Amino acid sequence: MSRPRRIGVMGGTFDPIHHGHLVAASEVQAQFGLEQVLFVPTGQPWQKGHEDVSSAEDRYLMTVIATASNPRFSVSRVDIERGGPTYTIDTLSDLQRQYPDAQLYFITGADALEQILSWHRVEDLFDLAHFIGVTRPGYALDDEHLPKGSVTLVEIPAMSISSTGCRQRVSGGMPVWYLVPDGIVQYISKRGMYRTFGQSPAPEW
Ligand code: ATP
Ligand code: MG
Repeated sequence: MSRPRRIGVMGGTFDPIHHGHLVAASEVQAQFGLEQVLFVPTGQPWQKGHEDVSSAEDRYLMTVIATASNPRFSVSRVDIERGGPTYTIDTLSDLQRQYPDAQLYFITGADALEQILSWHRVEDLFDLAHFIGVTRPGYALDDEHLPKGSVTLVEIPAMSISSTGCRQRVSGGMPVWYLVPDGIVQYISKRGMYRTFGQSPAPEW
């Protein structure tokens, strides 16, 4: 019997996507022999509902631009099209329906892994995917409180980059070259994004 297709799922707000996201996905793809990694930009994220988040279309297009050159990367619109707040249980259920013969690997940084127990319907999450927790500078990576065998911890090259940091840099007039792909520097500039981070939302799409 052939082994099931292995598909990685990298969920995120991607506001903007940066090299920390891309390195995490690339490392896990290689280490686990994943056929594809699907980047899944959130709808209106519930953890961040109180903050201003760029439009789904801007975040989607940045994700497409950043991943276009890697034949193993693609972008899914499931969370954007479902609308409303994104719950990972819905992301994984929809993707399992789209790829019924696949084993899903949900990739998550150490900060997000720490919060998993607060996620919606956590007891069902681990039936839908195997979780891969990756190292992230500034956060401890541990799976002590998570069900045995449901999570694999992976050390990846340390990239001390966050989307929040990138937004702050743009609004403060500092460069984001080499923190994000070149096309993202240009997209941010073309769309005038993050210039007033923390004061008012980015321009409507
Ligand atoms: P924000 O500052 O807006 O929260 P972020 O940089 O944390 O943005 P998200 O879109 O929130 O990016 O993260 C998506 C996923 O990528 C999460 O699982 C997060 O832990 C992981 N991730 C983000 N940045 C890194 C990084 N530098 N190294 C490893 N994992 C990362
Ligand atoms: Mg984050």
